Amino acid sequence: MDADVVIVGAGPVGLMLAGELALTGVRPLVLERQPRLRETPKASGFNGQIVELLRYRGLLDRVEAASGRPAVPAPGAPFGGMHLDFSHLADPPLRVVHLPQPRLERLLSDRASELGAGIRRGHEVTGVSQDDVTVTADVRGPDGPYRVTARYLVGCDGAHSRVRDAAGIGFPGTTYPEVNRRGQVTLPDSVTRLDNGDLDVPGLGRLRAGFTRTDRGVFGFGSLAHGGLLMQTTEDEPADLSDDTPMTLTEFQDSIRRVLGADLPLGDVTRLSRYGFQARQAERYRDGRILLAGDAAHQFPATGIGINFGMLDAVNLAWKLAAVIAGWAPAGLLDTYHDERHFAGARALLQTQAQVALRRGQDPAAEALRELFRQLLADEQTLRLLGALIAGTSIRYPMPGPGQHALAGTFAPDLTLHTDQGITSLAELMHAARPILLDLADRRDLREAARDWQPRIDIHTARTDRSQPMPCWSARTPTSPGPQPPANPPAPPCPRCEERSGAGSACPGQSRTGRAHRSGDSDSG
Ligand SMILES: Cc1cc2nc3c(=O)[nH]c(=O)nc-3n(C[C@H](O)[C@H](O)[C@H](O)COP(=O)(O)OP(=O)(O)OC[C@H]3O[C@@H](n4cnc5c(N)ncnc54)[C@H](O)[C@@H]3O)c2cc1C
Repeated sequence: MDADVVIVGAGPVGLMLAGELALTGVRPLVLERQPRLRETPKASGFNGQIVELLRYRGLLDRVEAASGRPAVPAPGAPFGGMHLDFSHLADPPLRVVHLPQPRLERLLSDRASELGAGIRRGHEVTGVSQDDVTVTADVRGPDGPYRVTARYLVGCDGAHSRVRDAAGIGFPGTTYPEVNRRGQVTLPDSVTRLDNGDLDVPGLGRLRAGFTRTDRGVFGFGSLAHGGLLMQTTEDEPADLSDDTPMTLTEFQDSIRRVLGADLPLGDVTRLSRYGFQARQAERYRDGRILLAGDAAHQFPATGIGINFGMLDAVNLAWKLAAVIAGWAPAGLLDTYHDERHFAGARALLQTQAQVALRRGQDPAAEALRELFRQLLADEQTLRLLGALIAGTSIRYPMPGPGQHALAGTFAPDLTLHTDQGITSLAELMHAARPILLDLADRRDLREAARDWQPRIDIHTARTDRSQPMPCWSARTPTSPGPQPPANPPAPPCPRCEERSGAGSACPGQSRTGRAHRSGDSDSG
């Protein structure tokens, strides 16, 4: 066997998975068809639950250093051609990291290598087959074709996943007949930036900041944090795009002229990119020894969430694969990867497809929908709900069995913990990506019962700052024997308002990380 797990694709998802697996002692081998780290200007940053998760791995400092800026609460977010304004919320629901995707990939690649993962660039997977014991990848490398075998193979090979096709996994959905083109621009002297952010353009007149609809498409622009503008066009045309054909300045200018009906003078133009939108989800995230993660598993018809949802797939999958490879996973554990992440992907599809309806509709009914939506955005709870949907924090994984506690299936909040060794936090305990049992009630009987699970879990006893301990389970083994939380326990108090919510009902307060307590992705390791 050449590796425990072969990962096809060294995008952010494949590299995150490699790092997570290597942390747990599994031997991953990443095969990437591109000979070098990419410079393709895709994401300029990422947001959502993964920001917290990187902190739980002790990686956020490194990400912030690479970014040159700390992760910050997002002042707003685009939603279906509208602007969600979080700037007046004391505790915005979305945190964002500004880090261009090539730099994120370099950082994740360095980390995976440091942890011992093998990464082969310039090695394209051309076929995949499996039997009861192994999975085999046919590879075309710089020295010719060869084969690698492993116990599992994960397709992190993007939207056009060859792994998905080889496994015969359907990818149903819709490709929207539109092309989006964008670039970062500076303005020449002939264009005036007005105080309110609008542009005054000779021959065109005033262009409003935000989105302008014309008969030929949509033109949009907004300010960038470091100066300059992000400009974008959207036009209806067949979306048969390839990542391998770079966009040119001429293509961008032609598109702006078509949409606005006149030339828009531009200064320096950088980071040109072109993308289409699909709403698709793999029917299954697992076929035997082959699994899918990231863009290979889902395509969302809105920007800004692909990295968050894809890297969360990787984190959810890694510890389960590690458990199976170590031989202690209960039956069905690996299948919970599909159950949980397919569910999360479906939630993301729900909100991004709703954005398509808001954005693409051209008739009076669509105008009415947009107007109604605009009015709803005046309500703080609506804004918070939409922010949580974008962040992936409003997801509560379906849990087996009745009477689950309101926190089961949610992301474990980062509690400050007082232990006999001193003060620590849940985030610090999760750095090693090991499952932990956190005993906040000084229950010797629970600790004793859990001793049989060692060394596969770490057991910690701690007290929290609050008088009422908040029970939380950051890792779980659905079919494990041993202590279970009592059926239908009272929901924990909200640390802010100290109110209790009924199981399954929304907590009226927010955690200090900006999450509603019952929302979030459960697996932090
Ligand atoms: C213009 C643009 C802007 C975006 N902006 C944002 C944003 O602001 N925020 C955000 O979160 N997301 C954004 N996204 C989406 C984000 O880029 C993707 O969701 C993310 O790249 C998905 O990561 P991945 O690792 O799943 O797949 P990919 O990044 O597509 O990586 C797949 C890798 O697999 C390799 N590969 C493919 N086939 C094979 C094979 N047969 N053998 C070996 N290797 C193979 C590819 O070369 C590639 O390196 C944007 C996308 C685009 C196009």
